[in-house]
Amino acid sequence: MTDRGLTSTYEQSRQRFLAAAQAVGATIATHPHPAAGMDGGALALDVATLGEPDARAVLLIVSGTHGVEGFTGSALQHHWLDSLGPGDIPEGLRVVLLHAFNPYGFAWVRRVNEDNVDLNRNFVDWSQPPPANEDYGGLAHLLVPDVWDDDTQQSTTLQILAYAEEFGFPKLQEVVSGGQYTHQTGVFYGGTGPVWSHRWLVEHIGDLVGPATRLCVVDLHTGLGPWGHGELISHEAGDAPGYQRGSAWWGDLRSMLDGESVSANLSGDWLGAVDRLMPDVEITAAALEFGTVDTVTVLQSLRADAVLHSSGDPLGPGSEDVRAQVRAAFADDDPAWFDAVSARFDEVIGAATAQLAVTK
Ligand SMILES: [Zn+2]
Repeated sequence: MTDRGLTSTYEQSRQRFLAAAQAVGATIATHPHPAAGMDGGALALDVATLGEPDARAVLLIVSGTHGVEGFTGSALQHHWLDSLGPGDIPEGLRVVLLHAFNPYGFAWVRRVNEDNVDLNRNFVDWSQPPPANEDYGGLAHLLVPDVWDDDTQQSTTLQILAYAEEFGFPKLQEVVSGGQYTHQTGVFYGGTGPVWSHRWLVEHIGDLVGPATRLCVVDLHTGLGPWGHGELISHEAGDAPGYQRGSAWWGDLRSMLDGESVSANLSGDWLGAVDRLMPDVEITAAALEFGTVDTVTVLQSLRADAVLHSSGDPLGPGSEDVRAQVRAAFADDDPAWFDAVSARFDEVIGAATAQLAVTK
């Protein structure tokens, strides 16, 4: 296990996170997840808290919303804990580190959860029919074919690229990754109701925020944008107060609603749900998205993963290769990548900490 940078398994990431949290005297709460890891190991969502319990402001740093992306998110949380010095948490601020929001995906090296659900497409209003994504149906059999060999990969990929040629790459990105609620073995699937992590958040967000009146959420992601670059993405439109505050704090904050971001405008992201769950709290939230490899390489890994899991034998022959492909698409073991990523993380967290420390 390395001290800095990415580990090889969820379990290593988790143990390192817990040890570092303990070392700085954090309060740790462990919430067991009902599923198990690949080797039958326990899964949990762990929460480490530092600072005054009745602080007026809370900084919430989240890893593993998208499972496998937690290799980087966890490493950044560990990096933060490891470099924490006396007086680094200003008076009036509490810092909450949520480790492995989607622990199943992290442990199984998948972006999705135990239900093949993308957690950031699951936070739609389930009292209404989920959003329609009609064009997805036309691509579904191409994106996740029954067989994933050289021939089917080539033929289906060419047809998908032909769609991009005809309708434009942004349209393809929107149809494929915007979220769909009709194909449960497909990609970017949003589910049929609130999943485990969704229900957990609804139950616990009030405790995480406590009596604070100001909340900043930084949700750590990987897999979009240029290598090592960290883009801050807002779920809000440019004229929303949360967006404007974030913009003032961080400078370059991209609104996915306004089409400024590397991300497609998507339905059911969890940061948007926090606004609805905590209406009386001033919330400044962003996804911090770190680039790894190009978008097509990322999509190919997700397609391979979806075919593997729809086959019903996710530990079968060739499955290690698929997991290696997914991990390589969402995390880079090059120390230079982690240096770039952690420097950007420090900048973002430093600015948020300074702004939250300002007494209001
Ligand atoms: Zn993500």
